[in-house]
Amino acid sequence: MSLVDHPDSERARELAERTRDLMEEVVLPFERDLAPGESVSPDGLATLREAAHDYGVYCPQMPTEYGGMGESFRDSLAVFEEAGRSLLGPPALRVDAPDEGNMHTIELAGTDEQKERWLPPLIEGEARSAFSMTEPAPGGGSDPKMLQTTAEKDGDEWVIDGHKWWTSNGYEADVFLVMARTDQEKHPYEGCSLFLVPAATDGVELVRDVPAMESAVLDLSHAEVRYDGVRVPEENLLGAENDGFRIAQQRLGPARLTHCMRFCGMADRALGVARAYMRNRDAFGSSLEEKQSLRHRMAERELDLHGTRTMTRDAARRVSGGDEARLPVAMCKVRAARMIQETVDFAIQCCGGAGLSRDLPLVDFYEGMRFFRIGDGADEVHLRSIARAAFADEHVAEADLGNLPQF
Ligand SMILES: Cc1cc2nc3c(=O)[nH]c(=O)nc-3n(C[C@H](O)[C@H](O)[C@H](O)COP(=O)(O)OP(=O)(O)OC[C@H]3O[C@@H](n4cnc5c(N)ncnc54)[C@H](O)[C@@H]3O)c2cc1C
Repeated sequence: MSLVDHPDSERARELAERTRDLMEEVVLPFERDLAPGESVSPDGLATLREAAHDYGVYCPQMPTEYGGMGESFRDSLAVFEEAGRSLLGPPALRVDAPDEGNMHTIELAGTDEQKERWLPPLIEGEARSAFSMTEPAPGGGSDPKMLQTTAEKDGDEWVIDGHKWWTSNGYEADVFLVMARTDQEKHPYEGCSLFLVPAATDGVELVRDVPAMESAVLDLSHAEVRYDGVRVPEENLLGAENDGFRIAQQRLGPARLTHCMRFCGMADRALGVARAYMRNRDAFGSSLEEKQSLRHRMAERELDLHGTRTMTRDAARRVSGGDEARLPVAMCKVRAARMIQETVDFAIQCCGGAGLSRDLPLVDFYEGMRFFRIGDGADEVHLRSIARAAFADEHVAEADLGNLPQF
């Protein structure tokens, strides 16, 4: 339970409370019953999803007409946070990446036909999706302007050629959202488009599942994919032609915040685990709970968590109001990624050897969160944007040098 209460709406509180009950009564006991290193089975996941329906918190962020609950982005965030207390929470509630971001993208940019085809099965969990943007060198990674995958118009079809990797869910996906260059003359930010590519399309080749650091609990794949002369009808263009980066940006803002909230929930649980261990473990004549050096570090972690939760809510409020809020979102992303790394590492340290055993969830948390300082834009890429804003002329005034002699 988080230390400081936040001024969330009544509705958000109600949703959070129901999610907390689901987590405590169903998801965490289920997680504890998994053998170390065991992945949740499809049947197990179906049971958890049924429970999420019963508790009235299944897929809160999607419109009711497609099978979601139609809650606002801001109110749904409280659910994301509570669900993040276990790696099983987000898939149980269908607020899990990358499907959650992909569903949002289709809802945002899709035609009625695209929404009707993909959203109901994605929301119900009968279908899965993948977002395919990152490429191995010399293609686009941190610098998406380097994107090399192309899509060329041929009659009423698009022909896609390219090489991607880190396409999460690639092996499970029924549909890929593929970013490709559609106009070589234009700046890449104005010359790329997104396409819906059904996984069964000729020319989609899954090269391998990148052997990534990842908790076994979810058994998530990260595919290297080749698109070799992949033909899709023109109606598979997602959004307008050459609008790919604008749509991706609209996707990434909220998707980064949902990650931040899930990681706030994970941090809160990790600190709870550490405190329970510290209370019950003695060393050098007193419990670990009484060691001042650990108490101060615990307080630092709570400070960091509270700051991250507050910043994320503020950015979500701006995004909900129609603002892209690029800077606040970049700040949240960097802060949350650092916060969760420091916090899980500290919790492991407090628990000694037990922290590194799979008797506790901390190792799975560690494996499940490390990517966040790289995925969705590495720390340095966001810091670059923050620094650019900080050094903008309106924030640098010679008058601030006061009486310093000229140099
Ligand atoms: C677990 C996981 C899941 C992912 N899922 C997806 C997915 O579903 N779909 C998808 O398209 N991609 C996905 N990615 C890819 C992810 O978005 C990229 O890894 C990320 O954008 C970085 O690109 P890169 O790996 O090519 O790193 P590179 O571009 O090679 O950069 C390497 C490092 O250089 C540093 N760096 C970069 N630019 C600068 C700079 N300007 N100044 C200083 N340092 C800099 C950063 O530390 C960076 O980590 C995933 C990655 C991981 C690890």
